[in-house]
Amino acid sequence: MPVAKKILDAMERSSWIRKMFEEGARLKAEFGADAVCDFSLGNPNLEPPEAFRRALRELVEHDRPGSHGYMPNAGYPEVREAVAARVAREQQAPVEGRHVVMTVGAGGALNVVLRAILEPGDEVVTPRPYFVEYDFYLDNHGGTLKSVPTTRDFDLDVGALEQAVTARTRAVLLNSPNNPTGKVYSRKNLAELAELLARKSKEHGRVIHVLSDEPYRRIVYDGLEVPAVFPLFPDAFVCSSHSKDLSLPGERIGHVAVNPAGRAPDTLVGALTLTNRILGFVNAPALMQRAVARVQDASVDIGFYQRNRDALWEGLTDAGYACHKPEGAFYLFPRSPIPDDVAFVRELQKERILAVPGTGFGGPGHFRLAYCCAPEIVERSLPGFRRALVRVTQQ
Ligand code: PLP
Repeated sequence: MPVAKKILDAMERSSWIRKMFEEGARLKAEFGADAVCDFSLGNPNLEPPEAFRRALRELVEHDRPGSHGYMPNAGYPEVREAVAARVAREQQAPVEGRHVVMTVGAGGALNVVLRAILEPGDEVVTPRPYFVEYDFYLDNHGGTLKSVPTTRDFDLDVGALEQAVTARTRAVLLNSPNNPTGKVYSRKNLAELAELLARKSKEHGRVIHVLSDEPYRRIVYDGLEVPAVFPLFPDAFVCSSHSKDLSLPGERIGHVAVNPAGRAPDTLVGALTLTNRILGFVNAPALMQRAVARVQDASVDIGFYQRNRDALWEGLTDAGYACHKPEGAFYLFPRSPIPDDVAFVRELQKERILAVPGTGFGGPGHFRLAYCCAPEIVERSLPGFRRALVRVTQQ
């Protein structure tokens, strides 16, 4: 077999996701894309802000010699400065350019950090449900993902986290606002987790890092603010990207910032710079670095997503679905009306509605809806959601 067994296994494990997409493609081919309500992908439907397009045009027009050459592996110094200024504000910490490494998206940032900190057999603890790729990212670097339950409304369960943190724990991986639940972890629970990690770290004589995966930090509703993690967790990394807040997922531009208050920040940045290089990323895309540095204060229209959230959440709860109202990101994670979420997602397909079973996120008994779509799709989908619910509850 020309493919490694581990990868064949991974292909098999994720094959049901592929099947969902194939079914979606089939429905679109048969009935036309407009007749299908596709909530399956977290691919933002909003175009990037005009300020970004303007920055891009200016850069291309004034293309200086050397603009497309190699650069320091951590990124252009002036870009790192620009990103650091924003991270410093968000994290209420004296972050400088030297604490930032530009990466190939948030996915690149997470891999760069994991490569830098994991010893073979190390464990990384994460609350579930969680972003599907984490298992693969951990496995890339010889680590193991240990997931722990969250509370009923998907907040951190600090008691469960306490049980999971052992002498083998190297890091806790947090994602808030969360994919797939839309939850923003409360400041109170984060502060309790900080106290727990400080205690456990002393007990085991080992640094326990926090990896804060934050590509949705700016996508929050009702004026909520996502709590800063640097003041709480000295040994924290913030991993993020502009895939969501600037609608640039295809451009693969992100960053990681190291908490200056933690142990050996300069050594950590040196390690991240090296892992960025030896994982084959070398550096984040040059043109995109220069473009996003100019638009650090820009964002897509968050109100658009909030309106979709309100319409979908109200429509579903009116129909009888149980669903936590998300505080951020652009996902809803309703409870499946029958225990088998894969079977329920198939029921939804009969209504030409595409969703992803919660099982794929370590959250069985739920399904995920990505509402980064046209408002008409939300509106059009509601009668179908209603019919599917009635059908399965009357069986
Ligand atoms: N982390 C989470 C929670 C995500 O939802 C995503 C993408 O959907 C990523 C990381 C990866 O982001 P990027 O496209 O910037 O690599």
